[in-house]
Amino acid sequence: MRRKLVAGNWKMHGSRLDNGPLVEAILGAPTHANVECLICPPFVYLAEIARELRGSTVRLGAQNLSAEAQGPYTGEISAAMLRDVGCDYVIVGHSERRTLFGEDDLLVARKFAAAQARGLTPILCVGEQLSEREADRTHEVIARQLDAVLDLTGIASLARAVIAYEPVWAIGTGHTASPAQAQDVHAFIRQRLAHRDAKIAASLQILYGGSVKKGNVRDLFAQSDVDGGLIGGASLKSEEFLSIMAAARG
Ligand code: PEP
Repeated sequence: MRRKLVAGNWKMHGSRLDNGPLVEAILGAPTHANVECLICPPFVYLAEIARELRGSTVRLGAQNLSAEAQGPYTGEISAAMLRDVGCDYVIVGHSERRTLFGEDDLLVARKFAAAQARGLTPILCVGEQLSEREADRTHEVIARQLDAVLDLTGIASLARAVIAYEPVWAIGTGHTASPAQAQDVHAFIRQRLAHRDAKIAASLQILYGGSVKKGNVRDLFAQSDVDGGLIGGASLKSEEFLSIMAAARG
């Protein structure tokens, strides 16, 4: 049985004043052997929050990283630095990085490889735009995004990774995918990977992301191929995030 992962993507939100009570509330939530909790604050808060999480089961991740290992890349943050301050995970290929910052499939694949080279678990985000869904191209787009990573790093790399299906039209919009739409894409991802390695595909955690809230989470998490969620807006409100964690516990 796959464990569920509930990951909070704080995006560019938070302050030292606001983060404290939120982290405290998350640390106070009941734990469960089959549910892992992860928070991904902005870079500048990682080291401080890592100290607060020490000794707990709550894991820490970053929202982005450089594809380069080190060097003259002003403003960039490397995988080694993220490990150094206590991160276990890093999000790669979030749709905001792809659309607002021009990250293409190859750069996302290089970031995925850079993360793994330093022992970080990448959370690879894939997802279609609304126009692509309306043109019935959802599977084609997801396949292209997945294949870019597989071509660079191979199927074995998926044994140390998480995938997040995040339809772009559902992120931050309040329009979530229906449980059936999510299940369809999650099953498509798993089947596509199973052609290369059935065991890796069967054990891979595939998260759903896109306007998940306490009101819709139970039906999404009840789908057989949905192994948790990547939560944006609702991860900033402790009551919402704790309810989502409770739904993951079942
Ligand atoms: C996200 O940022 O990955 C996300 C899914 O955001 P939201 O939950 O706010 O739609």
